[in-house]
Amino acid sequence: MAKELAIDLSRCQGHARCWAFAPEAFGIDDEGYSYVLPGAEGLVDNENVRKAIKNCPERAIIIRDGDGVEGAP
Ligand code: SF4
Repeated sequence: MAKELAIDLSRCQGHARCWAFAPEAFGIDDEGYSYVLPGAEGLVDNENVRKAIKNCPERAIIIRDGDGVEGAP
């Protein structure tokens, strides 16, 4: 199974920086928290997504692999 982007909602504090860096991959819900847009789960190597990952102050953007192992890159 391919790697997939995910948001660790136990860490996300709603800064929306991820959306600012990569609006093609992230949305912001009604309460201000991030989610991965439908169809964008596979954008793990996208340059803007990489910038968003680096700039998330909570390290809440994670990459999940096929074995269910999770971890901030
Ligand atoms: S930048 Fe990080 S903490 Fe902020 S909304 Fe995005 S995932 Fe959540």
